[in-house]
Amino acid sequence: MQLINIKHPEDRVSFSQAVLQGLGRDQGLYFPESFELLPDVPMLLKEDFVSRSALILHHLIGDEISRSRLEQIVASAFDFPVETPALDHSVRALELFHGPSLAFKDFGARFMAQCLAEFHDGGPMTILTATSGDTGAAVAHAYYQQPGIQVVILYPRGKITPLQEKLFCTLGGNVHTIAVDSDFDACQQLVKQSFEEPELKRELGLNSANSINIARLVAQVCYYFEAAASVSDVRQTVFSVPSGNFGNVTAGLVARAIGLPYKRIIAATNANDTVPRFLDSGEWDPNPTVTTITNAMDVSLPNNFPRVLELGSRHGLPLRSLLSSFSLDDNQTRVAIRELYARGYLADPHTALAWAALDREVKEHEEGVFLCTAHPAKFLEVLEETLDVVVPLPPELEAVRHEKILSSTIASDFDALKQELAALH
Ligand SMILES: *Cc1c(COP(=O)(O)O)cnc(C)c1O
Repeated sequence: MQLINIKHPEDRVSFSQAVLQGLGRDQGLYFPESFELLPDVPMLLKEDFVSRSALILHHLIGDEISRSRLEQIVASAFDFPVETPALDHSVRALELFHGPSLAFKDFGARFMAQCLAEFHDGGPMTILTATSGDTGAAVAHAYYQQPGIQVVILYPRGKITPLQEKLFCTLGGNVHTIAVDSDFDACQQLVKQSFEEPELKRELGLNSANSINIARLVAQVCYYFEAAASVSDVRQTVFSVPSGNFGNVTAGLVARAIGLPYKRIIAATNANDTVPRFLDSGEWDPNPTVTTITNAMDVSLPNNFPRVLELGSRHGLPLRSLLSSFSLDDNQTRVAIRELYARGYLADPHTALAWAALDREVKEHEEGVFLCTAHPAKFLEVLEETLDVVVPLPPELEAVRHEKILSSTIASDFDALKQELAALH
């Protein structure tokens, strides 16, 4: 796979370089220089999820990882099911939350972890990440017990839900969690500061496992094919994706660029509606970020959007007819949660928002698929206040509910973090 830095197209890197570096010069995103069509999509759709995903990823990545090695990587990264239950004759859920951290981010985080382990040159490697909740759990589980890799996750003390904390701060082993006595921005600042110290970076082999890493993106292409395998007519299928940083939508568009012939894709956002307004007016005019009940999508500067535009310009996707975007507010999201529940489906707020956008937009002769990005139990507070139900805990949460939190606590202070890092070796 040959990738270019979108900001400096003359900067070319291989897949392994892009995975190891994360970002290019001037914070430019790496993106494939070109896409080739898959030779036989109907045949591919007959394969099981893991075999098909290995074929797709091999098509995208090329020979930097051998076919057989890639099959092993995919089998261990995607070792949990993808479900596609039908709501009625024309609408399906694409459930992506059956992994260890109960959110779709497991796909990208686990595949990236395997790629890093593959490309790692044997020196020290430390994944240092800040989280406001969900990403930390996906990253922690993805690297847990990976030989030779240490994981350090910073999170704002008392500002993530108790169950979120239990999901990744109880693992131990090579996963080190640090509660910072401040907010998420302070955590992110500490991570940035660490990356600015060349000596520390070299000594620990720091990598951020950032969400813009190309390995995370290509992994997410695979489940669009799983949905396509379950519908009756791909050509009439419309996807609806709850969107924040627009990584998931980008992956869906990449699936189209390599030949999955679905009809169109909807990017559903909450009140942070920079993209829907941009597609309407042509003006990029971000407002300050607002807090909503779909907090994983509280993003007003979606960092993958340059890749979406690249798919339209360099790669020639007809974005005007292919991509639409709508914003729904919290009230509409709560109505959607109730409506879905009345139809027998308990959905987390992000999922419900995507369903509502689909329900509004899908036409008579079309089929709809909405992406279910988190398990409802991850957002049980919102569901219990919206629905008057008690949400049962899945086994993953039940298992850790009474486990001890292993995090250390530090002030928002770089020297304190350095001390914690020094203790790692
Ligand atoms: C991260 C996240 C999203 C947003 O996905 P993007 O790829 O950033 O658009 C949606 N729902 C949930 C539950 C998430 O964790």
